[in-house]
Amino acid sequence: MKFIFATKNEGKLREIKAVLGDSFEIVSQKEAGIFGEADETGETFEENSKLKALYVMKKTGLPVLADDSGLEIDCMPGELGVHSARFMGHDTSYDIKNAEILKRLEGVPDEKRSARFVCCITAAIPVEGKESLILQAKETMEGQIGYKICGKGGFGYDPIFFLPQYGCTSAELTADEKNAISHRGKALRAMRKQLLDNFKEEV
Ligand code: IMP
Repeated sequence: MKFIFATKNEGKLREIKAVLGDSFEIVSQKEAGIFGEADETGETFEENSKLKALYVMKKTGLPVLADDSGLEIDCMPGELGVHSARFMGHDTSYDIKNAEILKRLEGVPDEKRSARFVCCITAAIPVEGKESLILQAKETMEGQIGYKICGKGGFGYDPIFFLPQYGCTSAELTADEKNAISHRGKALRAMRKQLLDNFKEEV
């Protein structure tokens, strides 16, 4: 069974192929000839990942997978979350965004620095003569905002996302270590299970 993955992010494409690639054929939206993207007007990760999946499904008539993710910081309610990519503007570098968050949290004690990465994966599958089938899987990775920028792995907010149980940030983990515990890795594995349960015969 073939899915288009609705993203322009090569890093996300690699992660999804690593988890689903053995059972499903995954092609990027670029390979499918889709260059636009949905407006992320939703208030939740579920709504936005569904908007992204339906946008590409309507343009191609093919099964689509999409992800929406972000960082929730408990002492900065509503500032990042579904708006994480847009925090301080799309074009601002993550060095600047991460430095600003650390500055905003100066003097905030450990117990108030709690944060989590969230990811919702949506599968939108056209069904002839009926409404399309929508499957969703949402997972989190719990941690806290550290005190300095650490690590060169991952992307985005990883260098300030401290994992107390590992004693390092998610930017200091290898790709495999991060995948094993990350919001996106867990949501992809949950989606893989739902797809295999629903489409056993077609895989
Ligand atoms: P999206 O591409 O619209 O889902 O936006 C995701 C936003 O959350 C981007 O700002 C990313 O930097 C951030 N984000 C999501 N997952 C991760 C992660 O695993 N590490 C670091 N930042 C992430």
